[in-house]
Amino acid sequence: MYAIGIDIGGTSIKGAVVDDAGKVLTRFAMDVSKEADGEAEVNRFCDVMNKSLNDYDKSIKLEGIGIGMPGILDMDKGIVVTSPNLPKWNGLPISKLISKRMNLPVYINNDANVATLGEARFGSGKEYSNLIMLTLGTGVGGGIVINNHLYDGHLHMGAELGHMVIRVNGEPCGCGRRGCFEAYASATGLIRMTKKEMDKCPDSLMHEVAKENGKVNAKVVFEASRRGDKAAIRVMKRYVRYLGEGILNYCNIFRPEVVVLSGGVANEGDYLLDQVRRFMKNHNYGMKGSPIVELKVAMLGYDSGKIGAACLVFDK
Ligand SMILES: [Zn+2]
Repeated sequence: MYAIGIDIGGTSIKGAVVDDAGKVLTRFAMDVSKEADGEAEVNRFCDVMNKSLNDYDKSIKLEGIGIGMPGILDMDKGIVVTSPNLPKWNGLPISKLISKRMNLPVYINNDANVATLGEARFGSGKEYSNLIMLTLGTGVGGGIVINNHLYDGHLHMGAELGHMVIRVNGEPCGCGRRGCFEAYASATGLIRMTKKEMDKCPDSLMHEVAKENGKVNAKVVFEASRRGDKAAIRVMKRYVRYLGEGILNYCNIFRPEVVVLSGGVANEGDYLLDQVRRFMKNHNYGMKGSPIVELKVAMLGYDSGKIGAACLVFDK
């Protein structure tokens, strides 16, 4: 089976033909502008797709098109309700438009769910039936797979894993509340903690590393703590504590077999993961009597959205 997976971001649309073994066969992409009309942009992307497919192997029979994008979506009707990055797409009947142009069924879901589905089927989660995925970036996105099915709650409005409060009256979050997991476990949260510690410790190696990097980013604390800087190690411990507490909450509620981490922070690999694993092992509900939840880094990278979107078709 073959399907097209489309990953719509704030500045570009990327698509690919994907087979049901999760292999990406051909890719296509175009830039989008915030100011451009949604329907015109979707039509332009259909032209890009058609051109790419015409140049490609015509013997391939496509089963459908899957789309992952951020924002609030009416997934059953295939409508973009509100999209924070593409305001001129609000109200756009995207599935109907693309289906008409491409003569294929179209399915839509949010970007976090779709990336989770990709990792679950063909990435770090492929050997498991129950998993939680967390994307640690500017914010914290995530998804839940239970018995091989995406779980996203009533009207697909759930699985907002970044907005579980882990500290009452804590740091402000982008959602308007305080103390959300996202405010601590995101790269943004880590950078805030790093800057605070740097202000307190003018002699910390973090200042030097930040100068080498050109700015204070999430890498500063990892680099400085690897080199033994005490202030950086303190920030790491704090970060691991928050990340670990959040992950443990998901483990205690859902008891997945594996938690998959993606995003820039997760690319620090075992240096970060081993510290979180230790925390999880020491604080697991049920302690020694309960099964260990694996912790892994996502492996599909930038293709997870496209592959996951194609899975929306394969799952039908
Ligand atoms: Zn929040």
